[in-house]
Amino acid sequence: MAGQPKKPGLSAWPAGAAPGPLSEAPRAGKRLRFIYERLLARFGPRHWWPGESPFEVMVGAVLTQNTAWRNVEKAMANLAAHGLLTAEAMAAVPDETLAGLIRPSGYFNVKARRLKALVGTVLSLGRGGREPDMLAMPLAAQREALLGVTGVGPETADSILLYAANLPSFVVDAYTRRLLSRHGLAKGDEPYGDIRDWFMRHLPPDAPLYNEYHALIVTVGHQKCGPRRPDCPSCPLNDDPLLDPRLAGAVATSGKAFG
Ligand code: SF4
Repeated sequence: MAGQPKKPGLSAWPAGAAPGPLSEAPRAGKRLRFIYERLLARFGPRHWWPGESPFEVMVGAVLTQNTAWRNVEKAMANLAAHGLLTAEAMAAVPDETLAGLIRPSGYFNVKARRLKALVGTVLSLGRGGREPDMLAMPLAAQREALLGVTGVGPETADSILLYAANLPSFVVDAYTRRLLSRHGLAKGDEPYGDIRDWFMRHLPPDAPLYNEYHALIVTVGHQKCGPRRPDCPSCPLNDDPLLDPRLAGAVATSGKAFG
């Protein structure tokens, strides 16, 4: 329309009809790749969990349940200061001592029990009693073993598989559901396994890709895509033609569409 600023970038999105929730249409996969590239271009590689031992990653995946990462860092620092960041050392410490050290992560008694259960599984599955043996197991067997640990749900299990074992198991969380639903790719309340499997059908089985993609979704979720007032005008995905019309309206009003 004459007089209205042209919204740049719209044509960059994969063209075609709306793919629908968890659609198998080729366009769904293209959109998924396009979202990844847009997020990577804006936020850059996130370098999640590099340089830490697989066991530290496993512990972090449990401690981060229902709490912010800054609280996990305090608990991890306490464990490191007491030399407890190995499966053998953690198995030997009394539950109450462990709970006290991880207090900053919240739900510390529950999480101490979960850590002990996880450590028990790690040590029983490791041929030499060490966690790398468990992490060398095939993905499906390892996932089944992790899901058998009390307090380890699919999100925690997939985080361990992806970030500790470096296996291509996509992690789905609340940020993932919110982004997909606001961009017309899912309803958002589908079962965890449906969303995970859908990602894995549309992306190659590539652990570094899954690692980066999940980290980028969390980043855009933290910085832009909050639950109540998403900051779409400054978000790299704001020119998506399938963006929830209520949010697209705010972008149009602001005149800050991505270029
Ligand atoms: S902030 Fe807006 S444009 Fe960005 S991911 Fe969320 S809904 Fe999409």
